[in-house]
Amino acid sequence: MTKPINAFKMAQGQFDHVAELLDLEPYVAKMLREPQREYKCQIPVRMHDNTIQVFYGYRVQHNDARGPLKGGIRFHPSETLDTIRALSMWMTWKCAVADIPLGGSKGGVAVDPATLTESEKERLCRGWIDKFWNVIGPHQDVPAPDVGTNPQMMGWMMDEYSKIAREYTPGVITGKPVGGGGSLGRTEATGFGVIYTVREALKHLKMDPEKTTVAIQGFGNVAQYAAIGFVEQLKGKVACVSCWDRKDKQAHTISHPQNNVDPRFLQSITDQYGTIDKDKAIQAGYIIEDGDAWISKDVDILIPAALEGQVNDQTVQKISDRVKIIAEGANGPTTPEADEVLKRNNIFLIPDFLCNAGGVTVSYFESVQNNMNYYWTRDEVLSRLNQKMTQAFKSVLQLTEQEKVYTRDAAYMVAIGRVVKAMELRGWLYIP
Ligand code: GLU
Repeated sequence: MTKPINAFKMAQGQFDHVAELLDLEPYVAKMLREPQREYKCQIPVRMHDNTIQVFYGYRVQHNDARGPLKGGIRFHPSETLDTIRALSMWMTWKCAVADIPLGGSKGGVAVDPATLTESEKERLCRGWIDKFWNVIGPHQDVPAPDVGTNPQMMGWMMDEYSKIAREYTPGVITGKPVGGGGSLGRTEATGFGVIYTVREALKHLKMDPEKTTVAIQGFGNVAQYAAIGFVEQLKGKVACVSCWDRKDKQAHTISHPQNNVDPRFLQSITDQYGTIDKDKAIQAGYIIEDGDAWISKDVDILIPAALEGQVNDQTVQKISDRVKIIAEGANGPTTPEADEVLKRNNIFLIPDFLCNAGGVTVSYFESVQNNMNYYWTRDEVLSRLNQKMTQAFKSVLQLTEQEKVYTRDAAYMVAIGRVVKAMELRGWLYIP
């Protein structure tokens, strides 16, 4: 049996290991291994049948040494304070490794958004802002979409905040719809960012992208655009994707018999929560396998782009000898036990907070555009994203080679070093 994972313990374990390597002062490590501030609120919402349901909402602010806090809001039924704590910590490292001047935070609501009507969803989004408006703001803490939330929801939240602030404040939240204060390129940013790092890893390993095949876990926003980017930009092949099927209440792997998934076709038969219409996929010649099948595929690259803990002590055993790269599109997909196996097997890992930093990077560009009220073209956004991701990858690779450490540790070293530097420069640290 796979042990249930506590994402916060996992994030702290990863941090403690690198804090030791860096010989961080114990009080500095203490400041960084916990969030600076945490908020939990009740959010009562009037439902369509006129009853009131009470939801629980969270915002956790990990560290703002490098700039305003930044991080998404998840709507997920198993959301807890501990998952949000972990995710807020990873946001600090993500912004630092991407070298964008922001800190790390995260929010959420314990709810399955697919069970809500559109107007219940809107009231819950507005309710979240009514409870947390006084701890967020364009120069304090800027939320964004994540699992279970989307641009329309960000639009409602921005509107609610603007009403309370009594001025149009698009910079309070990112990932808004284009035309409603959003940035071109934000929707595809995380998935494309994953592919920019995969491209760099392939270059480093001297592998020809056109001869590589990938298996992807998940088919939400990140996985969809990672698949599209892999096929259209790198000209590689996608063997399969997986998705959670709400009707069947289980995950499925959707494979193509010739390893030739057409991601745009699959996207056209996928609902807003990432569930692919299985019957339409079968009609088009795809094969439906069980949810874990993606990880045992005979491919060169694996991209876990779903939730935490998916590459664990059990599933890691199923990885084929052919796999050379794991690109973590999700946050926290690999457990510490699985990390040990990947290290032993010499699999090149692109760690989550580097690999999926494209979303927050374009979120940062969105807030810059909002704050100056001047908008860029999609090409401008994506080429700046490409530069940032390539630079971030190179700084991590350089440290990996220089210090002969695991890529995850190197990414932590880059990120922690930058955050500690900012704390020092702001006078938060004791200088003897
Ligand atoms: N939720 C995304 C992440 O985990 C994006 C955060 C943002 O855009 O602020 O990176």
